[in-house]
Amino acid sequence: MKDKKIIAYKNERIKKIAFNLRALIREAVMDKWMKLHREKVKNKPALQYIKIENERSDLHRALQASICLCPGCRQTDRDMVYNAPLKHWFCTQCAQEYRDFYHKEKAIIDQGGFVGDFDEFFHSTFL
Ligand SMILES: [Zn+2]
Repeated sequence: MKDKKIIAYKNERIKKIAFNLRALIREAVMDKWMKLHREKVKNKPALQYIKIENERSDLHRALQASICLCPGCRQTDRDMVYNAPLKHWFCTQCAQEYRDFYHKEKAIIDQGGFVGDFDEFFHSTFL
């Protein structure tokens, strides 16, 4: 965790500006995403439909990978930590929860127990 890049604003004024900017960017991207959806459903030819859907996917992927929101909780007003293996920013609370979950599930596995949908690689990237 010590070598991970963390963005945590100490100055309250700068924090407020940064969080407002993140929310604004998220809203702008989601507006464009919905606008493309409305355009897509207007009986477009297949090629144009695919092009619009690709553009929507690119927008969604870019927002998910950005520091503007946490893909875990979708919040825009949190301290963020970069997860290099996943190439995504997560808020520090979600990162801690994923880390805690990893240790909890590994303890069960180590004792011979069974865990359901545990994605060991995903959760291990938060260690
Ligand atoms: Zn989060």
